[in-house]
Amino acid sequence: MHVEGSASILALIELNHLTKTFKGKTQTVDALKDINLHIEQGDIFGIIGMSGAGKSTLVRCLNLLETPDDGTLSVGDSGVITLRGGKAYDAQGRKLTERKLGAMRRGIGMIFQHFNLLDRSTVFENIAYPLRYTGMKKADIEARVFELLDLVDLRDKADVYPSQLSGGQKQRVAIARALAMDPEVILFDEPTSALDPEMVGEVLSVMQTLAQEGLTMLVVTHEMGFARAVASEVVFMDQGVICEHGDPKDVLGAPKTERLKAFLASML
Ligand code: ADP
Repeated sequence: MHVEGSASILALIELNHLTKTFKGKTQTVDALKDINLHIEQGDIFGIIGMSGAGKSTLVRCLNLLETPDDGTLSVGDSGVITLRGGKAYDAQGRKLTERKLGAMRRGIGMIFQHFNLLDRSTVFENIAYPLRYTGMKKADIEARVFELLDLVDLRDKADVYPSQLSGGQKQRVAIARALAMDPEVILFDEPTSALDPEMVGEVLSVMQTLAQEGLTMLVVTHEMGFARAVASEVVFMDQGVICEHGDPKDVLGAPKTERLKAFLASML
């Protein structure tokens, strides 16, 4: 258990006072309100909450796919990134360049609900794609792709196209692709929500293997069994706020707030 907002050289991800508001023509939504999180190497964070709680926004803000309005954020060796008025600045107070953003994002894998594979490329090419820009030799790329295919148990699908795969297999390819760049952390945004029930298990099983290997993971999930069994910490979000946070057996087994009790009841 970590103390939120505490400073430590071990922190892989540190969020302090992060806020994000979406301003529309007719309404304003405070999607994240004063979010503080401290994530260390090897942590598995399960993020749970009702639809609209701010879970996706939190994950998207972590790799700056969405720019938070205010607060500070650091991921890996990014240094402290300060958000002010919806703009991001580095530790020297300079506006973050696209190059620095790109370098930061390369250290973060992202898995989406809808896989986001390249439909016109084979499974092999989908995984090899990010490696082709690293200067890695062809033979090394091939070895790495097959190593990853073995990890997700899809070596025999190397030459097929995504349309020939089941949903569970597509998500396993997406995981292999995210792993190709050796990320420091992988963010999963509801990785099993779009899958038929019989395919959920195979994806969770791959994720469990990654957790056992010590990969740092943030997982937005509705799979309470997974959160209980695999997560080292569970975060319950509601209306843009972290309402409860701690050991899964405490958060899921002895909820303190009425909101979490209602949420868990709705999951049964
Ligand atoms: P969750 O992932 O928990 O379902 P989200 O992070 O997607 O929640 O959304 C949090 C709140 O922010 C919701 O009220 C949602 O409607 C709003 N929101 C999310 N993205 C946008 C956007 N791009 N523009 C306007 N409102 C948004």
